[in-house]
Amino acid sequence: MINTGKCPKCETKISNVKLENISVSAGFGRETWRGISYLCKSCNTVLSVQIDPISISSEILEAIAKKKNY
Ligand SMILES: [Zn+2]
Repeated sequence: MINTGKCPKCETKISNVKLENISVSAGFGRETWRGISYLCKSCNTVLSVQIDPISISSEILEAIAKKKNY
């Protein structure tokens, strides 16, 4: 797919997207992950989905903090 900068459904030019928290099931050795989906602000079409990068970095920081306590 070529990135035209427009929503593939309603063809509104995308300069801003809406985020939604979702659950991503099964993968990389875990039952669920916190995920986010990116939606077209105009028609709510899902443009992309990914594992929430902020929750991943928080989990890494928590794991490091736990190790430092030993
Ligand atoms: Zn749209």
